[in-house]
Amino acid sequence: MSEPKPKQDEPIKRMLAPVRLEFTVSAGRDKTAFLGAIIEGRILGGRCPSCRKVYVPPRGCPTCGVEMVGDIPISDHGVVTTFCTVSIPFEGQTMKLPYVYASIVLDGADVPIFHLVDGIDAKDARMGLRVRADWRPPAERKPTMESIRAFVPTGEPDAAFDTYKEHL
Ligand SMILES: [Zn+2]
Repeated sequence: MSEPKPKQDEPIKRMLAPVRLEFTVSAGRDKTAFLGAIIEGRILGGRCPSCRKVYVPPRGCPTCGVEMVGDIPISDHGVVTTFCTVSIPFEGQTMKLPYVYASIVLDGADVPIFHLVDGIDAKDARMGLRVRADWRPPAERKPTMESIRAFVPTGEPDAAFDTYKEHL
């Protein structure tokens, strides 16, 4: 973006100052287990001992402020609760437009994860759509959610709104 040149006595009100910050995050016990399972094609959650909600990935319960219990196996099938259709190009864009990015509550979890939904026309994306993880081949998996290429429709009937309305 080109900036207009300020006049001689006019104060400069803004300037472009690109900032880049690189940092390393320690995954910690729960995320280490979660990411190790992702490499194996499994998804783990953690249950809050107080409110009983299951979080994916496991993390301290933000409501109760307590540690999660256990590595709970979570299905790689779930339901689209909300979604957005991305149809505007942006820098670093790798997906063919338009595409769908969704909030997905996996079966057995109480909070959604966010991932790409593929295998469906963007215009056909909808709340309640049943989807499953499309895992990358084992040799291509890394400790990242990109080990799931995308979520794709299962072909099952859509989930009834009442079954996921608490997870919006
Ligand atoms: Zn809780």
